[in-house]
Order: sequence, then structure tokens, then C-alpha cells
Amino acid sequence: MHIRISELNPEIKTPQIILFNRIKTKSIAYNTAKPISAAETKALLQKMVKACLEDDGVGLAAPQINIFKQLFIIREMDGENKPLERFIAYFNPEWRAVAEDGKEEGIEGCLSVPGLPFEVSRWKTIDATWWELQEDGSFVERKERFTGYKARVFQHEHAHLRARSIVDDGKPHGDDRLIAEDKKQQKVLNTGANLKNKAVKVSGGASGARPKYS
Ligand SMILES: [Zn+2]
Repeated sequence: MHIRISELNPEIKTPQIILFNRIKTKSIAYNTAKPISAAETKALLQKMVKACLEDDGVGLAAPQINIFKQLFIIREMDGENKPLERFIAYFNPEWRAVAEDGKEEGIEGCLSVPGLPFEVSRWKTIDATWWELQEDGSFVERKERFTGYKARVFQHEHAHLRARSIVDDGKPHGDDRLIAEDKKQQKVLNTGANLKNKAVKVSGGASGARPKYS
């Protein structure tokens, strides 16, 4: 099921995104045999899309808004990674690396690690499986091979379901001065104290392509 930006319910409040150091719980399976209720699920998806759009993200995992269930959303993109006006929800997602394609480094941002880009090594190609919600509230199992950017976002979001983020999986991206400053501030980063203020400063000094947040 697509969640279209144009069809978002204005009465549903945008939830706050929580910082990575508060995502400590591994998520449990979304109950596909007996859904939590189609209405509740659809409202949750709307909240997730709103939270994601608020900070110009391309994806969001449920734990990022304090829901510890195996679910994330990813914005659909065209062939040139230009965002389209709809998201797809991935319930109980899993993936396996297509190992022969290897890994590649890439710069990632995260809505739960505001303003701090990290360099993360990810598998280039993955075989993904998940449950897709149908309009009538039932679920259908899906399988697809993803490569490049989509594979990267999928791995990023899936990590959140295992209580991981780019802070665990990558290294800070920036010039030496900024990295040194990051190390100096590691304590701040680890506690999450003033992370937002700090992050703005670091991000202001970094140049180059703006990373996509998810
Ligand atoms: Zn993230």
C-alpha cells in the first residue's frame, strides 16, 4: 500500500523523532497474522510519513517515533533517485546480502542523529523480503532485489529495528578538523546532551553534497 503525501490526514499530529541514543530496544514483529487493526496501522503510517517529511527525510523506522515494532517506511524514488510523492511501508522486513556485488562506502544522514553525516559501508545489492499491507488490512509477502541507493536506505532503516544507527555502523564524515571536534565531543554524542545544538554547528562547517536523511 502506498501512503500518498497528498492524502495525509491534517488531523493526525506529527510525532517527535527520538534521538539515536534513546533507541535502545530491539523491535518485535508486527503481527501480520492478526493485524493490530487496519485503522490503527494506517494512522501509524500517516504519523511516520509526517515525521519523515518534517525533516525532509527519505525513510523512517517505527522505533524513531518510539514504536518498537518491525516496520519502516521509505519514500519511493524515480530512476534518478528523485523523490516521488508516495511512501511504501515495509512490515517485518528482512534482507540478505548479494555478497558477490560487494560493499561500498556512502555518506548517510539520520533523522535521529541530526546534522551529523556518517560514512557507512553497506552491501551494494540485497535480496529483501517484507509484508505489504493491502487496502483491506490484510498482508501479502513480497520479495525484491534492491541495489544502490534503495538497498542502502533499506539497510539503514532495518538497522534501527535492531537498535542500531549510523553511529554504530559508520564513522563521522567531514574534514579532519570536524572529525577531531567530533571525537572531542564524543561524550556529548554518547549522552545525546545538546546533540541538536552541536549538530547544527558541525553540519554548518561541512561542505559537499547534502546527505539524505532517513
Ligand atoms: Zn536513521
